Amino acid sequence: MDPKSLDFKTSWEYAPAPEGKEHIKINARYEHFIGGEFVAPAKGRYFETINPATEEKLSEVAEGSSEDVDKAVVAARAALDKSWSKLRASERGKYIYRLARMMQERAREFAVIESLDGGKTIRESRDVDVPLAIAHFFYYAGWADKIRYAFPGKTPRPIGVAGQIIPWNFPLLMAAWKIAPALAAGNTVVLKPAETTPLTALKLAELIQAADLPPGVVNIVTGAGATGAALVNHPGLDKIAFTGSTEVGKLIQRAIAGSRKRYTLELGGKAANIIFEDAAIDQAVEGIVNGIFFNQGHVCCAGSRLFVQESVYDTVIRKLKDRLETLIVGDPLDKNTDIGAINSKMQLDKISAYLKIGVAEGAELYQSSCKLPKKGFFCKPTLFLHCSQSQRIVQEEIFGPVLSVQTFRTPEEAISRANNTPYGLSGGVWTDKGSKIFKVSNALRCGVVWANTYNKFDPSAPFGGYKESGMGREGGLHGLQPYIQYN
Ligand code: ADP
Repeated sequence: MDPKSLDFKTSWEYAPAPEGKEHIKINARYEHFIGGEFVAPAKGRYFETINPATEEKLSEVAEGSSEDVDKAVVAARAALDKSWSKLRASERGKYIYRLARMMQERAREFAVIESLDGGKTIRESRDVDVPLAIAHFFYYAGWADKIRYAFPGKTPRPIGVAGQIIPWNFPLLMAAWKIAPALAAGNTVVLKPAETTPLTALKLAELIQAADLPPGVVNIVTGAGATGAALVNHPGLDKIAFTGSTEVGKLIQRAIAGSRKRYTLELGGKAANIIFEDAAIDQAVEGIVNGIFFNQGHVCCAGSRLFVQESVYDTVIRKLKDRLETLIVGDPLDKNTDIGAINSKMQLDKISAYLKIGVAEGAELYQSSCKLPKKGFFCKPTLFLHCSQSQRIVQEEIFGPVLSVQTFRTPEEAISRANNTPYGLSGGVWTDKGSKIFKVSNALRCGVVWANTYNKFDPSAPFGGYKESGMGREGGLHGLQPYIQYN
């Protein structure tokens, strides 16, 4: 039956359940956080950050120039030499624990601000972003005084001052991935949040100040690409940690080639989810939806390609279409919403361009019949059926709620097609057979493979990519290594 013929609207109407925002405080203006103080930008320029679900201005934020970046790097160096490196490791650990506990107390505020500034659903920010960010601080706080036991026979030392640049899809979580291991290993940092989502990092700065962290250990400079480039090119840094697009990752590699700066890059992805005929189909369909739609497709490890074994293709597509019809697109602060706002107008334009490209390439477009809010940046959950390997919608990262679907007959065919991409960040395998899980996951050239689940994270598990998805790992003991050198 064509799911569009069913009156899903009537059967799935929920009363609104908006999360309150009375308890949060967003300042009208934010300055840089340098040397433990909030400092006005040298050039006096500010930019707006808006709520992508309503297009309303939330706040204005300092635009970082090279002078601001320099001030922050000098503050980080002074903190490294004068305080942070002189502290006992257990004392450093205590500061990080304190920060984690203070974040826990403010978890609801962080979640609401994350959804307001980035457009992601409150369910995701409340249940994923914020708890995971806190868990990373707790996890790395625990490592602070145990690092020498983790690298037996060696004497680990911090690398020095790290420049850290993060994207807009998991603003607080990415800040945690970067700051927590760096501090635990005794480094100091200058962090640049993404220009569309600076607010939770600046909230974190307020907590860092309240936690009495020695001034300059964490510095936050806000701005767009030019501010990021000024940070990358600053000669006073020992390391660059970047999460973002493959395109900018390559620019960064070129910019620091030949310098002493070490680097880790976590870049794009085009993950394949592979459903075998023996899989629990309902569970698999739910996992696919979780992997690409619940997060607006704004995840570098999003399962944006689907490979379905031919014998179950009709069943999987029917169930997927049914499920698409029940997805609620709209107000990110409503607890019933499955798909929130696209992060920015620029990103929505990019996704819309790919929808046109897919149709022009001959793929069959299927979208849910849901209505989109009149204001704000929204995109219907979209399937592209009958795709072929060479199409741009199959090869390129769209970063939106768009799933391209292909079929396969044998495991070998699925593996070879899944690997046929410049990326290699993540993948998913759905099957009832353990042996098939081992065979396929070992053959997939990607850093993370989930089996019969998707998008599961834990601070103790390393995450990172192969090929153009980047280098280095974050999370776990692996995530400490890039912040350590040995005597
Ligand atoms: P995305 O596609 O996730 O927006 P970007 O790579 O454009 O990825 O952005 C990720 C982060 O990199 C953001 O904080 C952005 O401001 C920053 N950035 C953009 N261009 C540059 C650049 N040339 N050098 C350094 N950082 C940059």
